[in-house]
Amino acid sequence: MIAATPFAGKNVGVLGLARSGIAVARALMDGGAKVVAWDDNEKARENAAAAGVPLIHAQSWDYTALSSVVLSPGIPLTHPKPHEVVVAAQRAKVEVIGDIEVFFRTIKAAKAASPKPANGNGYRHANGNGAHAATAPIICITGTNGKSTTTQLIGHILSRCGFDAQIGGNIGRAVFDLGAPRENTVYVLETSSYQLDLTAGLKPDVAVFTNITTDHLDRHGTMANYVAAKRKIFAGQGAGDLAIVGVDDTWSAETCMMLRMRGGIEVVPVSVGQVIGGGMYAIGGHLYDGTVASAQEVADVKLIPTLPGAHNWQNAAMAYAACKRFVRDPKAIIRAMASFEGLNHRMEQVGSIGKVRFVNDSKATNADAAAKALICYDGIYWIVGGKAKDGGIGGLSALFPRITKAYLIGDATEAFAKTLDGRVPFEKCGTLENAVKRAAADAALSPLPHPVVLLSPACASFDQFRDFEDRGDHFRRYAQALGARKPQEATAA
Ligand code: ADP
Repeated sequence: MIAATPFAGKNVGVLGLARSGIAVARALMDGGAKVVAWDDNEKARENAAAAGVPLIHAQSWDYTALSSVVLSPGIPLTHPKPHEVVVAAQRAKVEVIGDIEVFFRTIKAAKAASPKPANGNGYRHANGNGAHAATAPIICITGTNGKSTTTQLIGHILSRCGFDAQIGGNIGRAVFDLGAPRENTVYVLETSSYQLDLTAGLKPDVAVFTNITTDHLDRHGTMANYVAAKRKIFAGQGAGDLAIVGVDDTWSAETCMMLRMRGGIEVVPVSVGQVIGGGMYAIGGHLYDGTVASAQEVADVKLIPTLPGAHNWQNAAMAYAACKRFVRDPKAIIRAMASFEGLNHRMEQVGSIGKVRFVNDSKATNADAAAKALICYDGIYWIVGGKAKDGGIGGLSALFPRITKAYLIGDATEAFAKTLDGRVPFEKCGTLENAVKRAAADAALSPLPHPVVLLSPACASFDQFRDFEDRGDHFRRYAQALGARKPQEATAA
């Protein structure tokens, strides 16, 4: 447990008591803060009370006594309208922050209190690996797509290379559920735009910015606000810090240019498809390191089955650039990358029945993410639908020729049927279970050598499922119930 000591003696309000809210409340209390906490949800309050968190209705908080309000990232800060607690805090000139900000202040204080390492910046020890409690470097990863994959991949590589990689934030564990800094700890944190909106000058040792496309406008109001929230990842960075930025979309390229103009920070641009002097780039799956004196090919990512598609080449390039700061031997990075197991629900290879492959890409909750999967295959039996996002699937029309047939599910059925009409054969299936059955039956009759039943819904899941994981778990179960097996399982059976 990490105690949030910078808040010792202060009064702090915590609003939102899901996992990260309870963890930050506990950390503040352990650090000597006086906490008042609330959640409108009764079950959340019960869990918090069981964890020893003191509950006081937020309407009864004395804002004149509070130094900070720690808001859960799920609670609106600005849009569609600020939560009443935010309004009250702002009126009383009380800062509104999130657990990531509390974590950064805490680790900074721990670094200041810890003896400095003897060797330079402390990231690398004589044997090539190692950090130091006094450095406890933090890597933050943001972007519209690729955050979780890049976060997990960086964590995996660093673990394989001997670091105590603590992976958390928007993925997996809340930051205050992570281990306290040890000699070789590196924190690897996925940070969403909601979380970044609740920060005040972050200074990650390494900031990774994958890409930007339209998303979450309901919570940010405009694209400019959304991008500004994402850019807060670099807000406090300065000399000695590293910014790794994709340059393949307009917003990200502009971000990279702004950072270069700002100066001081080491900036590594990343591209898939363009040769970038001084950057990392992937051409046809071959990864090149152009940050060294003469650019070198470092890996063929096409050989890593858990990183399929050009979007994953971007993730691999980002991860390589981040890990290079900590691992001296580039070959060790690539060896570690090759043993990456991949993430569930992101083009997860569920198994096959005969020649038909089943792929679970439930995490593709917008059209842009679905495009990344569609581009990887031909002869696709596409399960699509759910709660539609702005723009629907019209933007995917260039990929329609890859789709043999679409199987529509959920709320988006009628709207997507209109988009596909006359361009792609489709069937309205209602439920995911029905869609898997129908798609599997059709794909089995396909004359193609490698038909794929692909769940890449381009939609949120909330109309029919708890979340995208629940949707993907159901897809896996339905496919397995029909007999889908991975090659090794098929051999063992
Ligand atoms: P995030 O955490 O940002 O949502 P994930 O790594 O979980 O990103 O990937 C979500 C989906 O986005 C994947 O299913 C994939 O289709 C797509 N994706 C992954 N990486 C990228 C990338 N670098 N660029 C664009 N799309 C990506």
